[in-house]
Amino acid sequence: MAKYVYFFGSGKAEGRADMKDLLGGKGANLAEMTNIGLPVPAGFTITTEVCTYYYAHNKTYPPELKTEVQEAMRKTETAMGAKFGDPKNPLLVSCRSGARVSMPGMMDTVLNIGLNEATLRGLIDKTGNERFAWDSYRRFVQMYGDVVLGLKPQSKHEIDPFEHIMDELKHAKKVRLDTELTTDDLKELVRRFKKAVKERTGKDFPEDAYEQMWGAIGAVFGSWMNDRAIVYRRQYGFPHEWGTAANICSMVFGNMGDDCCTGVAFTRDPATGEKVFYGEYLINAQGEDVVAGIRTPKKIAELQKDMPQVYKQLDEIRNILEKHYRDVQDIEFTVQKGKLWMLQTRNGKRTGFAAVRFAVDMVQEGLISKEEALSASRIPPDDLNQLLQPIFDPEAKRKAVAEGKLLAKGINAGPGAATGRIKFHAEDAETWVHKHRGTADGHVILVRRETSPEDIRGMQAADGILTAFGGASSHAALVSRQMGKVCIVGCGTLNIDYAKGIVTVGNQVLKDGDWISIDGFTGEVIAGQLATKPSEVVQVLIDKTLKPEQSKVYQQFAELMKWADQYRKLGIRTNADLPGQASQAVAFGAGGIGLCRTEHMFFDHIEPMREMILAQTPEARKQALEKLLPFQRQDFEGLFKAMNGLPVTIRTLDPPLHEFLPHDAKGQQEVAKKLGVEAQVIADRVKALHEFNPMLGFRGCRLGIVYPEITQMQCRAIFEAACNVHKAGVKVEPEIMIPLVGFLPELKEQAKIVHEAAKTVFAEKGVSVPYLVGTMIELPRACAVADQIGKEAQFFSFGTNDLTQTTLGMSRDDYGSFIRYYMEHDIVTRDPFQTIDTDGVGGLMRMGVEKGRSARPDLKIGICGEHGGDPDTVKFCHKIGLNYVSCSPFRVPIARLAAAQAALQK
Ligand code: ADP
Ligand code: MG
Ligand code: MG
Repeated sequence: MAKYVYFFGSGKAEGRADMKDLLGGKGANLAEMTNIGLPVPAGFTITTEVCTYYYAHNKTYPPELKTEVQEAMRKTETAMGAKFGDPKNPLLVSCRSGARVSMPGMMDTVLNIGLNEATLRGLIDKTGNERFAWDSYRRFVQMYGDVVLGLKPQSKHEIDPFEHIMDELKHAKKVRLDTELTTDDLKELVRRFKKAVKERTGKDFPEDAYEQMWGAIGAVFGSWMNDRAIVYRRQYGFPHEWGTAANICSMVFGNMGDDCCTGVAFTRDPATGEKVFYGEYLINAQGEDVVAGIRTPKKIAELQKDMPQVYKQLDEIRNILEKHYRDVQDIEFTVQKGKLWMLQTRNGKRTGFAAVRFAVDMVQEGLISKEEALSASRIPPDDLNQLLQPIFDPEAKRKAVAEGKLLAKGINAGPGAATGRIKFHAEDAETWVHKHRGTADGHVILVRRETSPEDIRGMQAADGILTAFGGASSHAALVSRQMGKVCIVGCGTLNIDYAKGIVTVGNQVLKDGDWISIDGFTGEVIAGQLATKPSEVVQVLIDKTLKPEQSKVYQQFAELMKWADQYRKLGIRTNADLPGQASQAVAFGAGGIGLCRTEHMFFDHIEPMREMILAQTPEARKQALEKLLPFQRQDFEGLFKAMNGLPVTIRTLDPPLHEFLPHDAKGQQEVAKKLGVEAQVIADRVKALHEFNPMLGFRGCRLGIVYPEITQMQCRAIFEAACNVHKAGVKVEPEIMIPLVGFLPELKEQAKIVHEAAKTVFAEKGVSVPYLVGTMIELPRACAVADQIGKEAQFFSFGTNDLTQTTLGMSRDDYGSFIRYYMEHDIVTRDPFQTIDTDGVGGLMRMGVEKGRSARPDLKIGICGEHGGDPDTVKFCHKIGLNYVSCSPFRVPIARLAAAQAALQK
């Protein structure tokens, strides 16, 4: 029979750290901390299987659960020397959610369960502290009312009903902080809270301790399916089937007086990665207060003065935990009357900067191996992006500051530079970005007093997050760190008025829609739009304006990349059309060009291109092509030189020809004049080239087959350039790639042209260079007949943009209108144009690989679609045995790391 409840307490636990799937992360680690002898208040974990059962059985529990819970409660009572629901010696508990992966603040927790009029008396007698008892009761009614009974704000403008009552009372009593409220005030609050509950729900606030506990358990399981938790799982690709555990944990109190506190800390700095104890605490407070940002907390270093003994013990635990878990930990603790209790530990969320630094430092400290350092759980490859993102141009910033635009300084919680329009509400941020995405206007800074889990969508949409309250462990800081967003918190001088839609600092007023810039490295908030400049890594590698020894960030990045290269099996290439892009990619570690799109070159020489397209006869077309030849040759020479011997894959002309033509009357007249023909001739030709569905029209190899002279010219340019560069002493090896092949004869005809061009040019130049002829695999038919195509092709490259379009029958230019709906309703889990649809498109790729290699066992196969820089796709490509992935230059480091992770995955 399944065991549904796992006890922890008195130095022994039934669970372990590796039981996260069953106990959730929080439960598993409470058990582990108990087992390694750390002070954890006793309690028990109700497994995730109960949650799954709960949803599968119409929100009911397995029949055995009740007895198991009662047994575990008995043990808890023995361990803590108090009894749940007992008026004389009451035990209070918390009921805490906890899924197998941490979802900060997405689900619910209720503290101080077990309080009612009778146990309250007992608590007062036991502690002799009436104010504390009422404070706990006040908190309990508020939290239970919110989480279990659902008394929440109903719109973005309404404030929390309990906060509202509290603000009224504080105002009447002329006090600012909760701690200034008297016992009588707290009694009054409880009375008003309960009245609000009765009014809104029509029921009395529950008195029975067990009824309270089961209510909380139901709410915790219920919170697994709340909107924000669902959104969060969708964003990180966690399945809805996992479920959460519910942890019942004996209460310990940080709100019993000034010898009590509650805090959260990281064993190292999660923003920069520096090896310093990093955290904050609040004297005389309970858990939620720190995260909620109600009072701005103290820095952990100050605890050394406030409670030296506790600090020493905590610092020791910091070391024990890092050694035990071999990773940076994010901990929660509470001190009750000078005694330290551990309430949670988990691997700390970190910025990309910190992730790299933790990993490299810990290898150097001998704590972990290089293999461990490279793991995806420590460094999600996408997070490397942060190290490549721009920073503010110091000149521009200095100027802005001199002009008095520096508004304020807060806590730098998420590094990076962000500039955008002010939005005060998550909803508004989301709507705005959705409407202006991809334009210069599509950037938003979410400016709030504090954020809460309801704001997650808006935070996702924003470039940066700025809050007036809260510390480095507040919700805003935590979530931005994970999303890799620029973030500043606790910027106390900001005076935000939601109703008016303005933020005031001193005498400066900014309103909704105004530009603001935030520097997440320093915490500076600046009015207006500020110019950015490249990151340190880019300055060292690309711009060469910084020396490697001047940048610690660069050095650690380089070290990590070196390790990645030692383990990865996949080659990494880049998609680049210009010598500059190509050299960038090489600096980032690319080993070749996987896709050079020749049409970009034609846009630079649009006139002869148009002449070529408008030509009525092969002769006229040839003449125009001859004008293009020198330009193409020059472009290829530049590219070959930049790549200095690395392989270069060049794709012959691919897009439909009408893309090069002017579509308005004025443009057509201009071309007509230049070409010396009637405007009508041009208009007619444009009309003739019009297609209803150009992506499935006259494009790809179809162009080179109907107009062979185009392929002839392109190949001549490639080979002439190759011979010239070869003569100059640079190694070259062009790989000529034919697009959109679906039938073997298409490839054969084009390959014949390539070989003829090579032969002619080599003879003329008196030298020859090695070259390959291959094809893109980007049509389902090509995958199905890959064994035929593989006989002719010397390499394959999956063009997954087109392969996704043609396999899913979804146009990548038109899927925007419905894909969001699809993702929000779990019809598709990922955007198929960003991450390979492994079952569908991936299935065809597997077929293509298998069939291709059946014809040619050593067939070289790569991928060159946008997907090539997506970490999950890179891992998939490794799994199906590709030789390389090709991606845009700035994705190259990410692909290198992902490839190493794929190779290290068991
Ligand atoms: P979250 O996952 O949102 O952090 P938690 O379950 O960890 O939620 O609890 C919220 C806050 O309440 C935390 O600060 C935690 O330390 C505190 N807390 C939870 N249980 C107890 C307890 N038994 N005694 C004292 N504080 C608690
Ligand atoms: Mg917690
Ligand atoms: Mg294509």
